[in-house]
Amino acid sequence: MGQIIKGKPVADKISEELIKEIEMLKGKNLVPKLAIVRVGARGDDLAYEKGALGRCKKVGVETEVHELPEDITQEDFIKELEKLNADKAVNGILTFRPLPSQIDESVIKYVIAPEKDIDCFSPVNVGKMTEGDKTGFPPCTPTAVLEILKHYDVKLEGADCAVIGASMVVGKPTALLLLNENATVSVAHIFTKDSAKVARGAEVVVVGVGVPRLVKESWIADGAVVIDVGINVDAEGNMCGDVDFDKVVDKTSMITPVPGGVGSVTTSILAKHVVKACKLQNNL
Ligand code: NAD
Repeated sequence: MGQIIKGKPVADKISEELIKEIEMLKGKNLVPKLAIVRVGARGDDLAYEKGALGRCKKVGVETEVHELPEDITQEDFIKELEKLNADKAVNGILTFRPLPSQIDESVIKYVIAPEKDIDCFSPVNVGKMTEGDKTGFPPCTPTAVLEILKHYDVKLEGADCAVIGASMVVGKPTALLLLNENATVSVAHIFTKDSAKVARGAEVVVVGVGVPRLVKESWIADGAVVIDVGINVDAEGNMCGDVDFDKVVDKTSMITPVPGGVGSVTTSILAKHVVKACKLQNNL
């Protein structure tokens, strides 16, 4: 049976490091601060917000939440973002997406200040991630995937990796981050002829498709490392991943659980990015 690699030890290690860094920053009269911009009150946004606020509090990152009305105009939304861009006390801005239909994300992504864009909304950060420029902010979830792989000493250089799913939030950035680690990366998506074959050819498989328990044992090579990014609720109301964990676990060498895997590291990365933004903004 594969080793079940949990997110908590990874999150705890990041938190410990952040607590020390924030102590150092406080000695310089700096307190990192995150502003969350939420339009309306969607359940999944609120759940993520609760986790993010809890994590930030634990490590000493200050937070403020800007809840905006569901029917806010694009003009007013831009004004709110510009205020936060200009606020020197705010180091990081997280905007929940998708935004309501009256707000055009392709306009907004150019409004958020790239140096405060801690979850890779701005094309500047997408570009920096593509170049492997460490001054940028890759999105938190794919960064959490990489942190888990590194924490558990999974060798990436030269490794055959498969990413199943190719969204801008999960799959594509994960593929780029793996490529930046000199892995050989294949990506499968909804139009791929045989996603199972792509997965089977890999030593490391990262799955983010949003289909409960899609990945079966026939998709996984013996001894592969499997990272399940999926968060779903099955027909019985239980949380589950995109990997059929019970069937797949015996074929793997390591596998993340859901819940308790990638999701538990994501908010630590968010806090880490706010601290990094604070340091960069203060030339530290
Ligand atoms: P999405 O719907 O935007 O994208 C899904 C991707 O999977 C697409 O690229 C699509 O082409 C691909 N896909 C769908 N069915 C497929 C199939 N049968 N074979 C191959 N590819 C297929 O979803 P998303 O936002 O990328 O989220 C994916 C999953 O990750 C969801 O379960 C979501 O809840 C979860 N998620 C988790 C975190 C976290 O912190 N753990 C963060 C974001 C998303």
